[in-house]
Amino acid sequence: MSTLAIKDLHVSVETAEGVKEILKGVTLTINAGETHAVMGPNGSGKSTLAYTIAGHPKYTVTSGTITLDGEDVLAMSVDERARAGLFLAMQYPVEVPGVSVSNFLRTAKTAIDGEAPKLRTWVKDVKGAMDALSMDPSFAERNVNEGFSGGEKKRHETLQLELLNPKVAILDETDSGLDIDALKVVSEGVNRFRSGGDKGLLLITHYTRILRYIAPDFVHVFVDGRFVEEGGPELAEQLEAEGYERFLAKAGA
Ligand code: ADP
Ligand code: MG
Ligand code: MG
Repeated sequence: MSTLAIKDLHVSVETAEGVKEILKGVTLTINAGETHAVMGPNGSGKSTLAYTIAGHPKYTVTSGTITLDGEDVLAMSVDERARAGLFLAMQYPVEVPGVSVSNFLRTAKTAIDGEAPKLRTWVKDVKGAMDALSMDPSFAERNVNEGFSGGEKKRHETLQLELLNPKVAILDETDSGLDIDALKVVSEGVNRFRSGGDKGLLLITHYTRILRYIAPDFVHVFVDGRFVEEGGPELAEQLEAEGYERFLAKAGA
């Protein structure tokens, strides 16, 4: 059972116009078994939050803390964060030339667990997870992200999620670019991942659509680098009906 705690986080990035503060005091606690949806307009800093948790070097934490079960996440390297049980779906968005999906997954699993998975069970696990995601077996021999369609990228992310089995997962815009069938398959994978009730899940999204398939326990509205409202699933319905305008006005954005 794990808790990811973010406290009064301020984050800046270097832009062409100079250093810009993107996160302006973000506080959020995700306990084991909880799914939190972060919803906000484009450019509000949602991905910045995800990348900062994952340890992307472009993002400088100027104040605040992130801890996983009391351990200082900000002091950890990207690899250490993964070993500690954090997973960011957009962690590997780039092509990995010459590395097959199969080898990539096995290397990642070995790095995270500190030992190679037993070959026979591993092969079975990979096949089972791919079947469940309606992925053709030949997909395992393709190079990571090389020529992947939007749907294939998201399926690959969900495959990683299920096989790497982190404690806390952060899914950034997992719904973007998915047709309804792909959205269902991916959502079912995410729901399998969290079904044990001991996972923390942070779902970042602009639209409410995915929340119909992956029901959140908490919804947080994120505008201009901070949370402006928090509630239950009904808040997502309200956003769907009213849009972000009321919240933009409230944030003075
Ligand atoms: P969202 O995911 O909510 O759309 P982002 O976190 O992607 O928002 O971006 C928030 C703001 O920070 C935007 O104004 C964006 O241009 C800026 N920003 C984010 N990352 C970078 C970066 N690496 N370099 C420069 N500006 C960035
Ligand atoms: Mg953006
Ligand atoms: Mg984003």
